[in-house]
Amino acid sequence: MKYNVLIIFIIPLFIISCSRDIKDDVFKKPTTPIILISMDGFRWDYFDKTKTPNFDILINNGSKAESLIPVFPTKTFPNHITIVSGNYPQNHGIIANRMYDPIFDEDYYIGQGSKPVLDGKWYEAEPVWVTVEKSGLKAMTMFWPASDAKIMGYRPTEFFEYDGSVKHDDRIRQVLKWLDYPDHKRPSLITLYFSHTDTYGHKYGPNAKETIGAIVEMDRTMGLLIEGLKQRNIFEDVNIILVSDHGMAETHEDSVIFLDDRINLDDVRVVDWTPVGSLIPNINIELVYDKLKNSSPMLDVYKKGETPERLYYNNHRRIQPITLIAKEHWSISSREYYSSDDHAQGYNGGTHGYDPAYRSMHGIFVGHGPAFKNGYVGKSISSIHLYEMMCKILKIKPATNDGSLDSTIIFLKK
Ligand code: AMP
Ligand code: ZN
Ligand code: ZN
Repeated sequence: MKYNVLIIFIIPLFIISCSRDIKDDVFKKPTTPIILISMDGFRWDYFDKTKTPNFDILINNGSKAESLIPVFPTKTFPNHITIVSGNYPQNHGIIANRMYDPIFDEDYYIGQGSKPVLDGKWYEAEPVWVTVEKSGLKAMTMFWPASDAKIMGYRPTEFFEYDGSVKHDDRIRQVLKWLDYPDHKRPSLITLYFSHTDTYGHKYGPNAKETIGAIVEMDRTMGLLIEGLKQRNIFEDVNIILVSDHGMAETHEDSVIFLDDRINLDDVRVVDWTPVGSLIPNINIELVYDKLKNSSPMLDVYKKGETPERLYYNNHRRIQPITLIAKEHWSISSREYYSSDDHAQGYNGGTHGYDPAYRSMHGIFVGHGPAFKNGYVGKSISSIHLYEMMCKILKIKPATNDGSLDSTIIFLKK
């Protein structure tokens, strides 16, 4: 009888303790974490527009590229997915912020509350948080485009659905909270995203005092993170990678290409407007193309498959039969829209989306921490190479991508 009681109590305890041991064996110790931070629309020269004592701490003791060269189109989602996957938009599927997919017969659009953004079927390349999770490590995301979607069956261990109203300080607090986790829960990759400089750049333009105020606010926010890391004595033990998705160019009220002066808007579906237009004609493509092609020196017009090779923008079903690309500072619109209330309320100080060859479209790259050289400033690099670099730092195997380590290895310590 006594033995039976022992068996009933001791065997289960033994199983629990065994299973703990097994779990501890399986548990992979987190690597030195990467905190990947995006400041949306933070142009390469914004550091020089005002005093930025906190950015300076990272730059002076870390590595910096002259600029980060974005991919075409220089829009938010295509570029954020490129940064985390190492693929050109035509290879990761997010070829614009607004798209139509002829197989799904559905539209994709970004913004808070967007349903398609949360639907993993739109994403065709592996984001670094998926690579991290697949490797048995943990990723946690305090916002990043598509980090709230289930992609290839994976989600970050912890993530938040996008909500632009979450205070900057609370985003930093969350990151610090994750770093306070015990080893078995602690993330090896954290992402952080801020739309602040993009919002002000659109509204007031890249050179406005209001935009400089937004740079100061981002510097303050970075100071909070640095302070929190220093208080924990881990500032030198984490790798901070600070990037932006693109820059910002001034737009002008009188630099507008009106499509309805050139074509009948009933003859096309305009999937995306400006500064990169995407048209699906419902009449003969050539007829629409001929009317547009030499209609303005400020507008380049391409049939699908004919955009310059350096833009890597020819091979995806979401690229439509006609692509329009406005020259820097120019916008594509319609007379109808210009006379509506929407336009009166819309952004008009600056925009992005233009050819990445324009310097104004370049963003930033700064690396600070044990992986990065101290006080090194290198040449501009393309954002397609950051995925490989992050995988190298985390010692994980990268998925297929368009990037390489060739141009980023120079920023890393031997
Ligand atoms: P853009 O229109 O290219 O300037 O993109 C910037 C905007 O993207 C932000 O103001 C947000 O509204 C939106 N955005 C950024 N991150 C996300 C996200 N994770 N989910 C949905 N929308 C987002
Ligand atoms: Zn952006
Ligand atoms: Zn923007």
